[in-house]
Amino acid sequence: MSSAERTDIAVVGGGIAGVSIAYELAATRRVTLLEAEPDLPLHSTARSAATYVPGHGSGPFRALISASGPRFAALADELGTPPLLTPRGVLWVAVDDEGEAAMAAMLAEQAGEPGAPVPLTVAGALEVCPVLHAPRAAAFTAAASDVDAIALHAGYLRGLRRRGATVLRDARVETITRDGAGWRIRAGTHRLTAAEVVDAAGAWTDVVAARAGVPGIGLVPHRRTIAACPVPSLPTGLPMVIDTADRFYFKAEADAVLVSPADETPTEPGDARPDELDVALALDRVRAATTLPLHSVRTAWAGLRSFVPDRAPVVGARPEHPGFHFFAGQGGSGIESAPALAALGAAVVTGAAVPADIAVDPDVVAVTRPGV
Ligand SMILES: Cc1cc2nc3c(=O)[nH]c(=O)nc-3n(C[C@H](O)[C@H](O)[C@H](O)COP(=O)(O)OP(=O)(O)OC[C@H]3O[C@@H](n4cnc5c(N)ncnc54)[C@H](O)[C@@H]3O)c2cc1C
Repeated sequence: MSSAERTDIAVVGGGIAGVSIAYELAATRRVTLLEAEPDLPLHSTARSAATYVPGHGSGPFRALISASGPRFAALADELGTPPLLTPRGVLWVAVDDEGEAAMAAMLAEQAGEPGAPVPLTVAGALEVCPVLHAPRAAAFTAAASDVDAIALHAGYLRGLRRRGATVLRDARVETITRDGAGWRIRAGTHRLTAAEVVDAAGAWTDVVAARAGVPGIGLVPHRRTIAACPVPSLPTGLPMVIDTADRFYFKAEADAVLVSPADETPTEPGDARPDELDVALALDRVRAATTLPLHSVRTAWAGLRSFVPDRAPVVGARPEHPGFHFFAGQGGSGIESAPALAALGAAVVTGAAVPADIAVDPDVVAVTRPGV
């Protein structure tokens, strides 16, 4: 891009948040996506457990995940990707008092919601997942799936180019300056002016806002770790298993089992690295709950899940800073909620009506809500 190109909307960040909202906006606006790294996705989006779990997360996320289900199928056709969801149930297990209390609270909170977990007997749980030791209590979410997060991200990128958007890599946004009704942006070697900015920079959202002189949203990145352990002769058809007390989860992938201690360590935005202790905890906890022979780690990684205190997403502008929109706080649900959240975000940014299938009041995710 030559100096001082003009665009309608500059989207900052090329993870799933940035590419998905850029795609939706590019249907009606001239969009430029600015990504700091030479390759994408590199940060949280490339490091997720890639699951779609109805009922996961805070209330707004549950509604967004539910609305995203049918949208994943439509997007696969629209973006020309392979099927994006591959069904795999989630077995929730309680292995101690805390887990039993959390299980009861989860079942009560989600009762009657689409795709809500149903209680299982211990015998039923062992039938669904024969590698488990008997848990104290169990429940099953049949409507869960694996998500092909990389195909989804690549599909959005292709789709937004098809819609005439510009994608700039190596374009770290360094300054954003108010220029009349719009913004002047310096991003690496690029200079552009934009009528509006969407800050979809994941863990760095508040850093980017500060560069525009806009107060942040109090976003806190939390590190989460996954280790892949080779296991020969794994039974096929295993569900994903999640401890309701949030101390571990695991799922089989090819000839390995992905294990996590479900860690949530507050940290600074950056290139997260796994801590050896977290990897060891993951193996210990999954070994204690199963008969799986976890003897070695093939690879381990960590990524950031970024939350505001109420753990709902943050969408839209502060009234005193019009034209600077937040699209952040995807936490642990940025992949599974992407199709509906991007459509909601684009509606908020352009002032259009929220699509009827998305049962989320924009006020509930607004930056002006109490608690942000
Ligand atoms: C271990 C783990 C497991 C997870 N499991 C799941 C799961 O099963 N299901 C699910 O739905 N979600 C899951 N998540 C959460 C999901 O990965 C995130 O919610 C999602 O990837 C966040 O996307 P993002 O685009 O906001 O952030 P990112 O993917 O981190 O993208 C932000 C981008 O902004 C760029 N950027 C930063 N600063 C600038 C700047 N100044 N200028 C330009 N660009 C900039 C960064 O380089 C980065 O590419 C998991 C996360 C982790 C870590």
